Amino acid sequence: MNPDITPWRVVQPLGTAHERACGHLDLAELGGARGRACAACLTSGRSWVNLLVCMVCGTVGCCDSSPGRHAYRHFEQTGHPLARTLKSGEAWGWCFVDEVFLEQPESSR
Ligand SMILES: [Zn+2]
Ligand SMILES: [Zn+2]
Ligand SMILES: [Zn+2]
Repeated sequence: MNPDITPWRVVQPLGTAHERACGHLDLAELGGARGRACAACLTSGRSWVNLLVCMVCGTVGCCDSSPGRHAYRHFEQTGHPLARTLKSGEAWGWCFVDEVFLEQPESSR
């Protein structure tokens, strides 16, 4: 295991009968975000709420609360299932396939 890559784990929602799982965590090899803006929104002059970065290839897109939903569009186009927030100080992600939240425990850094 590469010690430079912090392991992600699935956040278990409270009160669920079945344990949630994500079979894509080994795809999370983010070298770094490619930019600090949603390129598709910049092109069309739109704004966004939050930004997500693809954990597979580093492409930045806006979140599902944004009009463009370009992070989801990126998943539709590429099949890259994992995205994480680009907000500094926050470390959570989302799997579009399994629809589970992921967290990156601070203590394991
Ligand atoms: Zn998954
Ligand atoms: Zn966008
Ligand atoms: Zn990607």
